[in-house]
Amino acid sequence: MASKGMSLLWKISIGFVLGILFGFAVGPKVSETVVLSGYVMPFLDMVGKIFLTLLKMLIVPLVFSSIVVGAASIGDPKKLGRIGAKTVALYLLTTAVAIVIGLLLGNLVQPGVGMNIAGAKANPVPAKPLMDVFLDIFPANPIESLVKANMLQIIVFALFFGVAALFAGDKGKRVVGAFDSIAEVMYSMTHTIMRMAPYGVFALIAVTASKYGLSILAPFAKVIFAVYLGCFLHALIVYSGLVVVFCKRSPLWYFKGVQEASITAFVTRSSSGTLPITIANVQDNLGVSESVSSFVLPLGATINMDGTALYQGVCALFVAQAFGVDLSLNAQLGIIVTATLASIGTAGVPGAGLIMLTLVLTSSGLPIEGIGLVAGIDAVLDAARTCINVTGDTAVCAVVAASEGEKLLDN
Ligand code: ASP
Repeated sequence: MASKGMSLLWKISIGFVLGILFGFAVGPKVSETVVLSGYVMPFLDMVGKIFLTLLKMLIVPLVFSSIVVGAASIGDPKKLGRIGAKTVALYLLTTAVAIVIGLLLGNLVQPGVGMNIAGAKANPVPAKPLMDVFLDIFPANPIESLVKANMLQIIVFALFFGVAALFAGDKGKRVVGAFDSIAEVMYSMTHTIMRMAPYGVFALIAVTASKYGLSILAPFAKVIFAVYLGCFLHALIVYSGLVVVFCKRSPLWYFKGVQEASITAFVTRSSSGTLPITIANVQDNLGVSESVSSFVLPLGATINMDGTALYQGVCALFVAQAFGVDLSLNAQLGIIVTATLASIGTAGVPGAGLIMLTLVLTSSGLPIEGIGLVAGIDAVLDAARTCINVTGDTAVCAVVAASEGEKLLDN
C-alpha cells in the first residue's frame, strides 16, 4: 500500500511539472496551430474535465455516507459536540491568521501602487448576504440538498441522521451498517479514480498554463507574488507549527502525506472536488480515523478557506492602492472580520472567492470595480488559495485527531 502511494505521488508530481512546461511551451502557439487549437488542447481539456467530473461524482455519496457513519461511530453526542467545537474554533483561528498574513503582505509588497487602472473593466457579481448564508445551512428538503450537492445542508442532515440512528436501536444500527458499506465502496472507488490523477493533473495544469502564459502575468506579478508568498508562509508557519506542537510529527511527514490532495486542489481549484482525495490521504498517510476525518474534512471543504481569506486580505489592499484609497487600521481590522465570514460563505468551487471578494470590498468601502482588476488573473490566484484551503483542512483534521488521543502514523 505504502509503495503504491509513493509511486502515485511521484506520478502526480511529474504530471504537474510536465503539464506546466508543456502549457508554457505550447501556449503562444495555440492560436496559430490548428493541431493544437483544434485537437490537442480540446483533448486535454476533455481529459481534465473527465477527471474533475469523476471526482465530483464521488462527493455526495461519499460525504453523506461517511458523515452518517462518522456521527454514529463517535456515538456520544457530547463527544461529537466537543469535536465540532474544536474543529470550528481551529478553522476560524487559522483563517483569521491567514487574513492577517494577507494584510501584512499587502502593506509590505504594495501590489497596487502605481497600477494603471484606466483600462480595467468592472464586472461585479453580487454576493449573498451573510444572513442568507447562515439560514441556508438548514435543509427543508434533504433530497433536494443531495441533488444540488449543497454541502452544508448535506452535512447538517447527515449529522442529524447519524445521531438519530444511534437512538433508533437495532433498526438504526442496520441503517448505519448499510451506510458503512456504502462508504467503503466509495473509498474503494476513490482509490481507483486517483490512479487517473497524474493524467488529469497534467491535462488541467497544461490547459491553464497555456492560457495564462508568463507574459500576461507580468503586470500583476506583485499581487500574484504576495498571494503565493502568503500561502507559502501560512503553510510553513501555521500548519507546520500545528503539526509539530499538537501531533508531535515532522512537517515533512505531514506535507508528504497530504501532497496528493494539495496538488489536486491546485490544479482543480476546487476544495469540494478534491475532497475524496483529501479524505483518502488523511486516512491512509496520516492515520486519522474515519470517524474524525469524515466529519472534519467535508466541513472544512465547505467552510474553511484560509487561502481565500488570505487572498481577500491581499486583494483588498491591492484594490485600495490601485484606486488610491487609504485604508485605515480600523478598516483593515474590519476586513479581518468580513473576510473570515466571507471565506466561510465561499463555496469550494473554482472562482467562488472572487464573488465573495465583492462583499469584502463593499463592506470596507472599496470600489467594486476592483473585481475587474483581479478577475483577469483570478485562476492563477485561485490555484494557490485552493491548495492552501485544502491543506489547511488536513492540518486541522490531524490536530483534532491527535487531541482526541488517536494514534497517528509514524514519521
Ligand atoms: N476555489 C476555492 C476552493 O474551492 C474557493 C475560492 O474560489 O476561493 O476552495
